[in-house]
Amino acid sequence: MNSQEMSFPSARKRARGLLDMLYTPSELAQELGVTTAQLETYQTQGLPTYAADSHWFHGATVAAWFAAQPKAKPKRMGEGQAYCVKCKCVVELHQPTVTRKYGVKMLVASCPHCGAQVQRGVR
Ligand SMILES: [Zn+2]
Repeated sequence: MNSQEMSFPSARKRARGLLDMLYTPSELAQELGVTTAQLETYQTQGLPTYAADSHWFHGATVAAWFAAQPKAKPKRMGEGQAYCVKCKCVVELHQPTVTRKYGVKMLVASCPHCGAQVQRGVR
């Protein structure tokens, strides 16, 4: 299990409560409910410090950065699997039909659980 992905959604939510002030790494980590090590991981992912040579974080800037991050992606799917938005889980594609949509090859099948149409792009 990847702890980084796990903690991201709550940190993202908590970031909205950050104030327009400067935080030390430990203060910011506490506000976000993450470890300072996790904070460093965010930095490698582009989380900006107050200044290039600074270890301080500007709350509003951090909040904006989190808001701009894509939401956690659904788990990586294997071949022949697709994500059902109704069941909110990965399902097997049974006898999918191949179609083209916007120039992208798509596998389309119905969800074995709820019958909704599920599809995935293929290369
Ligand atoms: Zn389903």
